Amino acid sequence: MIPGARLILLGRQGAGKGTQCVRLSRHFVVPHISTGDMLRAAVREGTELGRLAKKVMDAGGLVGDDTMVAIVGDRLAQPDAVGRGYILDGFPRTVPQAEALDEMTRARPIDACLDLDVPRELVLRRISSRRVCRDCGTNYMATGREHAEWICDVCGGEVTQRDDDTPEAVNRRLDLYEEQTAPLIEYYQRQGRLVVVDGVGSPDEVFHRLTAAVHAAQR
Ligand code: ADP
Repeated sequence: MIPGARLILLGRQGAGKGTQCVRLSRHFVVPHISTGDMLRAAVREGTELGRLAKKVMDAGGLVGDDTMVAIVGDRLAQPDAVGRGYILDGFPRTVPQAEALDEMTRARPIDACLDLDVPRELVLRRISSRRVCRDCGTNYMATGREHAEWICDVCGGEVTQRDDDTPEAVNRRLDLYEEQTAPLIEYYQRQGRLVVVDGVGSPDEVFHRLTAAVHAAQR
């Protein structure tokens, strides 16, 4: 198999998308393009986009389609993404974003659109125990037995709960998902491009299902 692939990973927040994307990006040797990470970086840098994104993210809303399409369009035009491919995490999130992505990728179409399927109740439980390193973004699961000061095993950064992982914001994001992102699933399904992957299981099991689905789609 030649490394490289153009992939979309859809799925509810807390389905384990982020972690699986990191592994998939290593496996297929492609950049992991996470719009959430890009927006959080903009917030940290205090750019104009960051100020706008912070307001929207804190309220559990979605950044406007035009803004998101412009950001992703720039990123996909970078040489690494053009040459090797990519894995898109968090984009597209609405049907207009998917239509814009189809336009952008006309010359080099997406190989596989994967839907990591995890039931809402399970996701709610997982997100409330999610903790993230502020510096490198590594995800952890809180068990309630941690020290008050939690240091990242990977980079030594501070591990905390994301501002938008409060139960209210999580419920709002899950509602938004049903409203705006679930139609995406239908969009890709109608075109026969969607591969649903069972996201319930150990991280290794789920990873093997995802890679098998990509290899099958590339054939
Ligand atoms: P989660 O999957 O937990 O919502 P992400 O890291 O993917 O987290 O995104 C964090 C926030 O960034 C989202 O709740 C939303 O406000 C914003 N965001 C990320 N990607 C997009 C997108 N494609 N369209 C609109 N808003 C986005």
